[in-house]
Amino acid sequence: MEFKTIVGLEIHSELKTKSKIFCGCTTEFGGEVNTQCCPVCLGLPGSLPVVNKKVIDFAIKTGLSFNCDIARYSKMDRKNYFYPDLVKAYQISQYDLPLCSNGGIEIEKADGTKKEIRLIRIHIEEDTGKSLHGLEDVSLLDYNRSGVGLVEIVTQPDISTSEEAVLFLDELKATLEYLEVSDVKMEQGSLRCDVNVNVVSLDGTLKSNISEIKNLNSFKAVQKAIEFETIRHTELLKKGENTKKDTRRWDSENNTTLFMRDKQHVQDYRYFPEPDIVDFEISEEWIQDIKDNLPELPKARKNRFMSEYGIPAYDANVLVRDKKLANYFEEICKGFKDAKLVSNWIMTELLRRMNLEEVTLEELKFSVEDLIVLFTQLSESKISNGSAKKVFREMFEEGKKPLDIIEEKGMAQISDDSFIEGLVNEVLVANPEAIEDIKNGKDRAIGFLVGQVMKKSRGKANPQMVSELIKKKC
Ligand SMILES: [Zn+2]
Repeated sequence: MEFKTIVGLEIHSELKTKSKIFCGCTTEFGGEVNTQCCPVCLGLPGSLPVVNKKVIDFAIKTGLSFNCDIARYSKMDRKNYFYPDLVKAYQISQYDLPLCSNGGIEIEKADGTKKEIRLIRIHIEEDTGKSLHGLEDVSLLDYNRSGVGLVEIVTQPDISTSEEAVLFLDELKATLEYLEVSDVKMEQGSLRCDVNVNVVSLDGTLKSNISEIKNLNSFKAVQKAIEFETIRHTELLKKGENTKKDTRRWDSENNTTLFMRDKQHVQDYRYFPEPDIVDFEISEEWIQDIKDNLPELPKARKNRFMSEYGIPAYDANVLVRDKKLANYFEEICKGFKDAKLVSNWIMTELLRRMNLEEVTLEELKFSVEDLIVLFTQLSESKISNGSAKKVFREMFEEGKKPLDIIEEKGMAQISDDSFIEGLVNEVLVANPEAIEDIKNGKDRAIGFLVGQVMKKSRGKANPQMVSELIKKKC
């Protein structure tokens, strides 16, 4: 019996507002524990929350980018549950009137097919504090994160493979980054993903119960958790058993999911309208104003890169994934016209070294101008491709100027006609049998002769010129 996987995602993204959602405390990451709190975000009796308008702006901005319907009337609700990181024993969230509903994100798979992943809703809420485990016998709590504004983005169960889930998250992450509404740093927890997964037999007769895997903090974890759960669910159904409706967590050390608790039902949360916050109305002008100021998004930028710079879809896609990298590419192209050469170098040499040395664009030791100088030397055949890579390596490691490196190492390629012709003549005279071979159609002999000339010039002759000259003379 064959099964298919059904996946829905819930993504929490911390909003990059200066202050928290209901108070003036800073949202800065990494502060000394419990120094960024006040009576409101600690939920002390008598304190009153006031909604940060920026949080609503950011949620509307996000919703518009994913073609959601924006509510004209909305409110906050109380979601009641107890957990040590939740100071008030309730979270202020949204229940039946989310700010954004419907909409979707289109993904493009490796084989070029496209698929729309529909969204159910995007709502705003406050983040919880953070439990610090791992100390002897105790867990400590840091409430700096308590009350940071979040958007929760919920998809329809339209995702069928781990590949689709990762593509969806990648597109979502890139878009949030372009919108500048979130840092989307999964490793710092500013983007977290819950996965709802179950399997159903192709004939529809067998279906497993949904498992929810909580708080995944990397694409790799999302991918592996979906793959693991697919196998677990399928095997249970094949044995005539079924999964429990449960909440699980991903154990990245053992590549497995572990049972946390039975799934809570919505009625367990006893939602009711938040009495300390007035409902809000969102005017057409408010929405229009945000719409008018939306930045160019990754998909539009990809299309523009293809038409404006004439680079292939693959290159454009790699470049636009990261807004800063895309800006960097455009910066270089302002001073150097061969965009394909630029994208090749970024995708291979630059990204490879950056990943290897764990260096960000801001930390590069050379300037955009230095890179333009290097590319110009290469495209004008003043240095060979191999030399260019060596120069780049020194620029990357030492921050030296490209022309200084070329000078120092004597890498400049010689493109002087008479000098090269002299060398070619010498080599031809010394190798009459190779000329005979070329006349008999053995092209390999050309390569041999080019090699001889390069050797005589100590690698400095322009190989293309040498090759053309030999062909002309034979
Ligand atoms: Zn506060």
